[in-house]
Order: sequence, then structure tokens, then C-alpha cells
Amino acid sequence: MSDIHVLAPEVVDQIAAGEVVERPAHLVKELVENSIDAGATRVHVEFFDGGRMVKVIDNGKGMAPGDLPKALERFATSKISKTDDLWKLRTFGFRGEALASIAAVSKLTLTSRRPGDEQAHQLISEYGKKKDIDKVGGSQGTTILIENLFENTPARLKFLKSDAAENTAIKTTLKAMALSHFDVEMRIQENGKLVAFWPACKSRKERVEQILEIKTMFEGEAVRENVRAYAVFADPHNVAKTAKNIWLFAQNRWIQDRSLQAAVNEAYRNLLMHGEYPIAVVWVETDPDCVDVNIHPTKSQVKFQEPSLAFRAVAGALRSTLETAPWVPKMGASSVSPSFGGAAQGGVEFKGTQGLPNFAAMTKPAAMPTENLAFDDSSLKVTQFQKKDFSFPTVNQPKVSYETLAGAAESRQNFVADSADVESFNDPGSEATPASAGYWSSLEVLGQANLTYIVTQNRDKIVFVDQHAAHERVAFERLMSAWKGGKIDIQDFLFPLAIDMSPEKVEAILTLSSDIERLGVHIEALGPGTVGVKAAPLFIKESILSTVLDRMAGEIVEQGGSYSLERAVGDICATMACHSVVRAGQALSIDQMKNLLREMDQFPLSSFCPHGRPVSVEYPFYKLEKDFGRIV
Ligand code: ADP
Ligand code: MG
Repeated sequence: MSDIHVLAPEVVDQIAAGEVVERPAHLVKELVENSIDAGATRVHVEFFDGGRMVKVIDNGKGMAPGDLPKALERFATSKISKTDDLWKLRTFGFRGEALASIAAVSKLTLTSRRPGDEQAHQLISEYGKKKDIDKVGGSQGTTILIENLFENTPARLKFLKSDAAENTAIKTTLKAMALSHFDVEMRIQENGKLVAFWPACKSRKERVEQILEIKTMFEGEAVRENVRAYAVFADPHNVAKTAKNIWLFAQNRWIQDRSLQAAVNEAYRNLLMHGEYPIAVVWVETDPDCVDVNIHPTKSQVKFQEPSLAFRAVAGALRSTLETAPWVPKMGASSVSPSFGGAAQGGVEFKGTQGLPNFAAMTKPAAMPTENLAFDDSSLKVTQFQKKDFSFPTVNQPKVSYETLAGAAESRQNFVADSADVESFNDPGSEATPASAGYWSSLEVLGQANLTYIVTQNRDKIVFVDQHAAHERVAFERLMSAWKGGKIDIQDFLFPLAIDMSPEKVEAILTLSSDIERLGVHIEALGPGTVGVKAAPLFIKESILSTVLDRMAGEIVEQGGSYSLERAVGDICATMACHSVVRAGQALSIDQMKNLLREMDQFPLSSFCPHGRPVSVEYPFYKLEKDFGRIV
């Protein structure tokens, strides 16, 4: 007698069930994927008791009565027949094991009707034991009801988390499925209550806005060799406290991927504050044979043949759009911020003033005489642009008590020296910008508040601009573009500046010395644990240089590659910018303020300081009207 025997099919199915349907959310995913594979345009999901009872109704192509029992067999599938097909997957299911696995651990009722059928057919299975097929009433499509999930496998039942946690997992999964299928209507009921209804949309962008409930989102695209990424994302004012609102899809499958998540964060670098996360949905696509999406039935992970291409495509897709700062109101057609669209104000739209809030007509004469609208007067604009006398005062102002910025105390003593640096950022030669009507320079400067904020207005709001943050961004962008264009004033050191770091770091940083040279920093080996700096840009202070080089070396050791260099450059520029620009607590003349605003127009990302803090705060007149009780 042999000890080895082949397992009974029910046992095999139960083992498989443990893998495929670890928790109810996985089961829901399998069922909805089947519906979508069947061409459904409407999917209705109901779940109760943390998913121990689930019903999925679709209007797909249905199944032949004779196929009902087959659908519950292991390795029964209508989707592939040979191994070659495994590499050309277009549909979601392919293993033919989901229904068999689910049937093994539940009471399953399968009802289906094809377009030509006179009525529906129904098959009930209890823990894998199939009953006879019945004729029943039912509309076209397939309905699968799962009850008593895991009741024959108490260990699995115990493994489930709280109903609330399982419900959340189900809803998150369904969100992901809806995101990846914008043209499918989804309706979701939790314990009998409608929790979501997402009608079909026309585009992925529309779907994202619908599901994440954010009115205006932006799109970006990038291709790196055979990897293409498409992203829909919120502007950086609109952030989350966790990474949960970063949704990633590979070949339109929802995935978890740390590297791609890092790529998203990377794109938002210098736009978000610490602890802030972007809201973004990203699709990555490549040739089917360059990605493995079948690593595990439930672990939503993929393996790209060239992970760095995927990383760069994702970062590029976001960055290409972020860099144009599309959320900054465009001048010309309308200067109204998107949140104050005319349609929202009672649905009335006027030809020609489309997009203008109704209150504008009402309040304009009183609150803002037309002659004050400096940005409508082009002759005035030209005169303004002809003045190029902008520079910040080089005299330290004794206004320290107003300083509100962290680290102000230690930077204060740098101030005299710093303000000299400031002038180098205001190279008059580079100021010859054409008089384009940028958003920031279109704002009418009213004055300075608390020696910190530039107070401005336009047709529909008051805008406060943080002078330090704004100037910091301008300086940062200018440094970055100088670096990218290789235009930096270099100072040679008579004696190389010696910076001590670990031999490993020294070796690492020297491998990138030619890249670093583009930064204007010339380095050489002085010893196994010492790097010598022969030359550095004029604007970089020595104290910052050693800190930054050490950090840079550390990053190169950890990650290598040129990406970390760019980041290091960003760090240097951010640090430099922060220490060399106008501070809070410094009096500015109207001309200086106007000049700063004009400079902001040269750099689209001026609405954020390099540390991600917002640069401006808006106070719409609409809100003022409300606060004064003029309107309700
Ligand atoms: P797979 O999806 O991997 O093929 P499943 O066990 O999920 O395996 O489903 C088995 C088969 O049952 C499918 O190949 C399909 O033919 C059929 N099927 C399952 N769900 C549906 C549905 N909602 N509508 C039509 N056919 C379905
Ligand atoms: Mg399937």
C-alpha cells in the first residue's frame, strides 16, 4: 500500500480557495472581473456582514445552461486554452479557478441568461456539491450570490477582520475596479444601503473626478521607450494625509508597487510638505511580454522587465504637467478661479461672461471700480515692465520681531550677507521679459501686511502672497534652471575645501563628479575619507556645501543613478534659495512687490515654496460678501 495519494478534488479546491479568496474583497474582485470579462456595462454589487454574503449582478453576455456546472469546475475557463495564451492575456481571469475556489467555501447560486435565451437558468452549489439546474425568471446577464462564506472552514472565518475592516477592503477594491473601467456603470450596496453609484463615464479623467470626488483634476502623459504612463491627478493644494490616494494600474490592473509610488512622490517633490501625499491615479502600460502581472492571484503586484523605465514614465507623466502649473488661473479668457464657475451659482450662464460668477456683476461697481483694474490697462502694464530697478534692500531691517518662520533666529545673522546674494538673483539682464499678462503680475498690489504678506486683488478676490515663500520659489527655480543650463558663476578656491566623509561615500560621490561639476561644484579625492572641493558656485555657502555633499553622497550610496543627483541638486537649490531670499519681516516697496510678482510669472510653479508650503492664500470677494451678510 502506498502512502502517497492524490487529494480529493474538494480538498484541492479548499486549499486553492485559501489562496484565491483569502478575504471577501478578493472574492468580490474575482466576481466583478468576471462580469467585466463578460462584457457587462452595468455591475451591481451588494454585500452584507463584512462580505460573508455577496451578490454580483451584471448585464453581460451570460452563460449557456450547460456551462453553469463547468464554470464551477477547477481549471474550467472560456478564456484560454494553451500556454501561449498565458502571455497574451487580455481578459482578467485566466486560471479558471476563481469560481471553483469560491464554490468550495460557500453556498453559491449562479443564475444566468444569454441574450437569445427565453429564460434564465440557475445552479445552486453548497460547498462544492452541485444541485440540479433549474429554470428561473431573470434578465439578461449573470447573477452570482455567495452565502455562508467560510462556514465550512472555521479557521478561515476566524482569520477575517472586523466587518468594518472587510467592508472597507471591499469598497476600496471596487473603487479600483471602477477606476480601471470608466465605461462600466457600478452600483454598490453595503448592508442594504446604497453607498456608491457611478454611472459610466466618457474618459478615465472623468471617472477619476467622479470617484475621488474632486472637481478639477489634471492629466499628464509620458513615454519611456516601450513604457507609457498616463496620470490623472489633483493640483498640489489638494493633498492627502496618507498614500492611499495614490492609485496605480499596470496593464489596467490595480497594483501595489513601492517603486511606482515613489515615482509619484518624486514628481511632487518641492511641491508638498512633509507628511502630505499626492492624490493621483496612474496607468502604466507596456508590451505584454515586458511585464508579469501574474505573480500571485491576489497579491496585486507586477514585475516590469525594466522597472526604471516604468519609474521614469510615471514620474514624467506627472511632472510634465505639474511643471506647467495648470491650476494657476489663465489670463485672458477669464481670470476666475475654477472653484467659482458661473454654472455653480444657480446654473445661470451668460454668453461672453461664461465662467464669471454672478456676484461679480453685482459687486464690481462698489467693491472694485473698473479704473482700478490695472491688469485691463495694457499701457500701464508696459510702463511697469519698462522699470527694471528691482532689487531688495541690502540693509538689514530691524524688524526681527515679526519673523514667523522656523529657523529665523539662526538665519537672521546671515541676513546681511544674504541680501547681497539676493541681487545676484535679480540680474537685470535676465529681466527683459516680454509684457505677457501673467497671473501674478495681473494682481493689483494693495500693500504689505505685517511686513510678511503682499496684499493684492483682482476682479474676484483678494490674494495674499507670502513674500518669503514666493521669493524662495523664484530663487529656487532660477537656480535649478541655471543648473540645467550650465550657467552659474563659479568661484575657485585657492586651497581645496576638505570635507570628511566615509570612504564609501567618497568613492560614490566621485563616480558622479562630472555630473556634479555641472552644478558648478568641482571635486577631487583628497584622501580615502576626504573629498576636496576645488570650486563651487558663488552663491553656495561653504557651510551648506559640506552638509549637502555629504547628504548627496549618502543618497548615491543608497540609490546610485542620476536621479538622486537631480534630487540632491533640488535639495541644494532649496536650501540655498531659503537662505538667500527676502525674509518675512522686511519692508518692501510697491515696486519691489510688483517685481516679485512679475518674477513669479516666469516660473509656473510659483504657487508653492520649494518646501511645499503654499505661497498664496485667496479670499474671494464672494466670501467677503457672505461674511458681511450682504449675501447668504
Ligand atoms: P476565469 O475567469 O479564470 O475563466 P472563473 O472561475 O472566474 O475563471 O470563471 C470560469 C468561467 O465561468 C469563465 O471562464 C466564464 O466562462 C464563466 N463566467 C464566470 N463569471 C461569468 C459572468 N459573470 N458572466 C459570464 N460568464 C461567466
Ligand atoms: Mg475569473
